[in-house]
Amino acid sequence: MNYVFALPQAAVPIAGSDQLFPVRRVYCVGRNYAEHAKEMGFTGREPPFFFCKPADAVFPVPANEVGRVAYPPMTENYHYEIELVVAIGKGGRNIPVAEADSYIFGYAVGLDMTRRDLQFALREKGRPWELGKAFDQSAPIAPLHRVGETGIKTKGAIWLNVNGAQKQRGDLTELIWSVAEVISNLSEYFTLEPGDLIYTGTPAGVGKVQKGDTLVGGVDGLTDLSITLV
Ligand code: MN
Repeated sequence: MNYVFALPQAAVPIAGSDQLFPVRRVYCVGRNYAEHAKEMGFTGREPPFFFCKPADAVFPVPANEVGRVAYPPMTENYHYEIELVVAIGKGGRNIPVAEADSYIFGYAVGLDMTRRDLQFALREKGRPWELGKAFDQSAPIAPLHRVGETGIKTKGAIWLNVNGAQKQRGDLTELIWSVAEVISNLSEYFTLEPGDLIYTGTPAGVGKVQKGDTLVGGVDGLTDLSITLV
């Protein structure tokens, strides 16, 4: 049997190499920093939750380049959310928190781009979030760093500048659910597999951007992510 046409494999470059990390699924954690949960209209004490983006929403940006991300249709309130992204390198389910770190392939800086107006309208009606979260190019990502290089990341600044002005700044110590807890909890709902990415949530300070804006974000110890909206 042959496929009637070929499909491209979504992938993220691995820093300092010519290798690519193939993407299977993209999971995202919602409200995983208390101050961001508050700015979204919640108390900051609710447990985090998950949603997904399609693998082909991933928009890899090589080191030292500025990714040209298309301003999406059907929104007048397009938001950035800077996030630590965890790449999974080993499959498993019902993973204990104490073993979760061994499932990590590496880390990258990512943006969970959001059509906030659509997300809020859907949220109000109790409808699914795909139109607000899972659109084309909604998951820009910088090159992945292998865990052997970075070590297990439990602290370090996470930040985002828009046109040179700082908009978000937090620290990985402020995650409500640690990365190990996220992996463990997620693996109770889904069998994790190599190739999965987890966007772990954003600190406070999310806001609106428009065509022509340049966004630069980072996490201590990882390659910065730069995009411009076209
Ligand atoms: Mn997010």
